[in-house]
Amino acid sequence: MSIIKIKDKSFKTFIPETEILQHVKAVADKINRDLKGENPLLLAVLNGSFVFAADLMRSITIPCEISFVKLASYQGTTSTGEIKEVIGLNEDISGRTVVIVEDIVDTGATMKRMLDTLGTRNPKALHICTLLLKPEKLTVDLDIKYVAIEIPNDFIVGYGLDYDQQGRNLRDIYTLV
Ligand code: 5GP
Ligand code: MG
Repeated sequence: MSIIKIKDKSFKTFIPETEILQHVKAVADKINRDLKGENPLLLAVLNGSFVFAADLMRSITIPCEISFVKLASYQGTTSTGEIKEVIGLNEDISGRTVVIVEDIVDTGATMKRMLDTLGTRNPKALHICTLLLKPEKLTVDLDIKYVAIEIPNDFIVGYGLDYDQQGRNLRDIYTLV
């Protein structure tokens, strides 16, 4: 186990790369079985999911496509505060089987918002595929079809995930000490 420092915080190794890749492969195998003949469109949510999306797609052996979206935050007029808007989607997703590729689902609010927005564009099917899920934190009713790894309610970095924009290049996943 190694301890690293990013800015003011210390992190320790939590899930080594070899283990992450085994879980990614298992999820890809499920997608290969479930979505054969569907030519799924992977829709990766930037920035955090870029590493996961690359490894996931290279383990998918059926014909598939990829595109990227971002979530822009703006203050809503309601008391719920932060609302996230999906930007950058140029593809026509009507009639398509879409797999949203996310780094981590925490409360689930972000994914709920994605489903609501993309759902209005007449996709054939909308599935969520997340690298990490914190089941204890999930507060919205969300059907997550593909989860690579379930983790406890701790803050993690690495494998694309950041702490204050740093640490995305770490090959292993680290947890806050
Ligand atoms: P949700 O809307 O599900 O509450 O939040 C999901 C987003 O919060 C993720 O896409 C990610 O950007 C951020 N997030 C939640 N937990 C963590 C964590 O442990 N580490 C990092 N780096 N980001 C997290
Ligand atoms: Mg994310």
